[in-house]
Amino acid sequence: MLRELANAKINLTLDIIGTRRDGYHEVSMLMQSVELADELTLQKKSSGIELRMDAVGIAGGENIPIDQRNLAWRAAEEFQKFCGRDLGVSIAIVKKIPSAAGLAGGSADAAAVIRGMNRLYDTRLTEADLCEIGAHVGSDVPFCIIGGTCLAEGRGEILTRLAPTKKFIVILAKPDGEISTAWAYKTYDEKISIIHPPNLEIIEQLERGNYDAAFKNFYNVLENVAVQKIPAIADCKRKMLAAGAHVALMSGSGPTVFALTDDDSTAKKIAAAVKNSGTKIFITKSN
Ligand code: ATP
Repeated sequence: MLRELANAKINLTLDIIGTRRDGYHEVSMLMQSVELADELTLQKKSSGIELRMDAVGIAGGENIPIDQRNLAWRAAEEFQKFCGRDLGVSIAIVKKIPSAAGLAGGSADAAAVIRGMNRLYDTRLTEADLCEIGAHVGSDVPFCIIGGTCLAEGRGEILTRLAPTKKFIVILAKPDGEISTAWAYKTYDEKISIIHPPNLEIIEQLERGNYDAAFKNFYNVLENVAVQKIPAIADCKRKMLAAGAHVALMSGSGPTVFALTDDDSTAKKIAAAVKNSGTKIFITKSN
């Protein structure tokens, strides 16, 4: 039996470059993993896949399937296929990451299963192999396998590892409601953004430690799309900035908004500023 953590991610930037022949969007995103994580336990079994999930109290948890549609299950299937063997596994997940929130909760679970099965069966696959398996499950899975700070291009699966940023306190606020990633991208096509984050410039700024300049450039082209559906996103951003956040931005296709700060007292002020009955708040750290 072994344990794996499935860390959530935030998008420091999200840009859409165009649409591709395969129907996916060509993206360019700066991704950052955070300490907030689901907890997985993996155990060998003689054959097949078994999945248990405790998602009680998680926003959106009641809608997560626990069969072949679950990304953790699909990851185990893809791992078995890659190895050409029925490497039986029993997976138990304690969900901490809110679902359909822009934090890659499902992709993180898939990544943890792939990393975990490699350890459980001592299959000694390389990181590139693990990412190849992950890309069959979803575009964000390879990043979730690697973690840290990365530039993600292509569908999100072409990764360039970047120097780690300094450790920030990350305040996550998930307003009530869910946004489907497919809906956000489809709606974006009808209302293309004229502003785009200058990702290469931001990478240089982060590498030089010029964080204030980088924060000003953080941008997510899906934010305006998501605000149409959940106006509380804009409200959260405003309140977080007014409470002293370095930056506040929507993650992924939303609706979670994250704020960054260096000190605990500002983190508490930010959390208090967005506190209301419909908003779930998490205080975590970049990792
Ligand atoms: P992304 O940031 O990659 O767009 P997200 O955070 O918006 O992802 P997820 O939490 O990954 O969204 O959930 C998206 C959908 O995937 C939900 O509708 C959920 O039912 C389904 N799903 C499948 N497997 C899982 C899983 N293990 N955990 C959470 N959701 C899952």
